[in-house]
Amino acid sequence: MKIYIDGNFFEKEDAKISVYDHGLLYGDGVFEGIRAYEGVVFKLKEHIDRLYDSAESLALKIQLPKEKMEEIVIETLKINKLTDAYIRLVVTRGVGDLGLDPRKCKYPTVFCIAEPMEPLLGEDGIKVITSSIRRLPVDVLNPAVKSLNYLNSILAKIQANYAGVHEAFLLDSEGYVAEGTGDNIFVIKNSVIKTPPLSSSVLKGITRDTVVDIAKESGYKILEEKMTLHDLFVADEIFITGTAAELIHVIEIDGRVINEGKLGSVTKDLSQKFKEIRSKIGRKVY
Ligand code: PMP
Repeated sequence: MKIYIDGNFFEKEDAKISVYDHGLLYGDGVFEGIRAYEGVVFKLKEHIDRLYDSAESLALKIQLPKEKMEEIVIETLKINKLTDAYIRLVVTRGVGDLGLDPRKCKYPTVFCIAEPMEPLLGEDGIKVITSSIRRLPVDVLNPAVKSLNYLNSILAKIQANYAGVHEAFLLDSEGYVAEGTGDNIFVIKNSVIKTPPLSSSVLKGITRDTVVDIAKESGYKILEEKMTLHDLFVADEIFITGTAAELIHVIEIDGRVINEGKLGSVTKDLSQKFKEIRSKIGRKVY
């Protein structure tokens, strides 16, 4: 597997960055997780736009045009002869000294990893807990910024691991439902689909946006609305969305069984439609 770092490709064992890189020392950097399906990079432009927005929010100046960043992703897939892949694109503040001042870092580090990944099949649904760790408030470190600092999510994931479930949902600092550790949340009640708004401390997920579009085109009523745990407990269906997760239904939350532990009809419909279009929206590699 060949990995791109700052203009060159390296074998995996030789793909290394400096211990003085502030991405490592301080989590000072941004990233994207991207999928390719059948030789098409799903919504590549949207991912690159979000990467640059995340960087701008941190006053991290990416010294490459967006077109070049797209090419890096395409070249990484090509050199590894991949059609179905999970891609990790990372921009760090770069090499500095041991102080945290970003002005000491002259050039951002850019790297891109692509690994084979087949679409997930036959998913049986997941069990989740509500984490006692709250999602970062928007006025602390806005979850809209996809930064390398994932400790908030990791702490919640550790709770899910201790509880023996797949995933943890985080509430925002006011107690409204925010998101999972690496995914957005959708709730269905009486055929109305709801997902938390961006003001509830969530990442503007690219899968989330895609599902919202599919739902609208399919004639569902879909709302961005603040929700409480009550909405989850009384839901007809709950599912999560994410680049890695795609669409997965929740069968249990805090020990309460959702939809008798089965895949619900609305989730099934949206999931099928997502699978139909995922290899059709994006940039062709070959
Ligand atoms: N929330 C968080 C915290 C995430 O890490 C992710 C994965 N990027 C998502 C939501 C889902 O976003 P996307 O659909 O763009 O992968």
